[in-house]
Amino acid sequence: MMDELRELYQEVILDHGKDPRNFRKAENANCEATGYNPLCGDRLVVTLSVDENGMVQDAAFLGNGCAISMASASMMTEIVRGKTRAEAEDLFQRFHEMCTTDEDVDFTDDEDVEKLMVLSGVRQFPVRVKCATLPWHTMEAALKGESEASTER
Ligand code: ZN
Repeated sequence: MMDELRELYQEVILDHGKDPRNFRKAENANCEATGYNPLCGDRLVVTLSVDENGMVQDAAFLGNGCAISMASASMMTEIVRGKTRAEAEDLFQRFHEMCTTDEDVDFTDDEDVEKLMVLSGVRQFPVRVKCATLPWHTMEAALKGESEASTER
């Protein structure tokens, strides 16, 4: 990883970890799921408010876990707001890819995806990938109307 990205990675994780955004329940929440990562002990609840057009009006989370899971949840809730269900799922696919691929894929074509790249540093630590993707798995479960998500499935 480039030094610059590594520094940014630490900065962002510390910042979001200390001061998580949207650490609350979503306003008028109509989707909710609980996510659990038994490998690390991360546990969180993602709540979303999705309107009749499938647009995420509000996204928030509560729970506790390691700095990476909290930072990832914090960033995710900021990024998916104003996105459609399909766009949110697409972002998850790309985020998952950047956390697991060994190849240098260019993710700089999309502003939101570029923000998430900071977290892709976890791919150096495979056990941490689950911490970073847990909030997204949980959001996806909530969008599908499932109440629970686990990284071990
Ligand atoms: Zn964790």
